[in-house]
Amino acid sequence: MSWMDKILPAGIGQSAGERVNVPEGLWHKCVKCEAILYRPDLENNQHVCPKCDHHMRIRARERLSNFLDNEASREILSEIEPVDQLKFKDKRRYRDRISGAQKITGERDALVAMEGSLKGMPVVCTAFEFDFLGGSMGYAVGEKFTCAAQLSLSTGVPFICFSASGGARMQEALISLMQMAKTSAVIEKLHQASVPYISVMTDPIYGGVSASLALLGDINIAEPDARAGFAGPNVIEQTIREKLPKGFQRSEFLLEHGALDMIVHRKDLRDTISRLLSKLSGDNWAKERDQLSEFNDESIRPRVLPPEESIDFSDS
Ligand SMILES: [Zn+2]
Repeated sequence: MSWMDKILPAGIGQSAGERVNVPEGLWHKCVKCEAILYRPDLENNQHVCPKCDHHMRIRARERLSNFLDNEASREILSEIEPVDQLKFKDKRRYRDRISGAQKITGERDALVAMEGSLKGMPVVCTAFEFDFLGGSMGYAVGEKFTCAAQLSLSTGVPFICFSASGGARMQEALISLMQMAKTSAVIEKLHQASVPYISVMTDPIYGGVSASLALLGDINIAEPDARAGFAGPNVIEQTIREKLPKGFQRSEFLLEHGALDMIVHRKDLRDTISRLLSKLSGDNWAKERDQLSEFNDESIRPRVLPPEESIDFSDS
């Protein structure tokens, strides 16, 4: 505080352009439009800014509770815990980082898995908790994802993942990277068994998690304006020494360039994914739901071409 501030009465001397600190608690400032928002209203709006439609980060449990039918969902695989196999230490011990993140989030690690239903259709659903060490994937995340997907595989129930992650967890080194092979392999098994896997990318999704599970969905969905990629834009710019185009790695850019199948507003995720699953499952479940309007097929591009249209690369 300057000497001028000390002698002036409270509230006087603050310039109009001066930054206003918003007290934590009842109010939240939108990072995009800077509107001051009443937190209960924001929660009712699934953490989407009512002024500018910015999709804010949302906690994993809140995400799952908004998405699944409340009465029929239950947590699974909660016994899986992180393991500090390498006794890793940088500025802090990895074990201390884990316990710190557990205290902050109330989660054992960065992935929450639930078995439940979506508009009456049974599903297995996972969501990343970004506040737990940046949603990074170590043993516990990889194991929980794989076990949840295997549950889908054994029961034939569709699998859904909401991802938000900075990538692999460096403190687990090779053990973390091995999770990529594990998660990719189980997704391929789902694919071979024709069990639908829907991936929903939420801001931000990068590194090993985007490469090994988030971009491998039968349908790859992203929320509006979400950042998704492998390396971040700064690293790419420094490597190729070129200015990247506007909106690079944002959902809209990725959709335009074929990396995504669709962008879906958070409030529409339940309706859209239930329609997609009814189409992919090919059962009579959706036919009974005449209140749902027909899904627009033109907005989906299949991930895999039918065999007769596949491109033969053998000569190249
Ligand atoms: Zn806003």
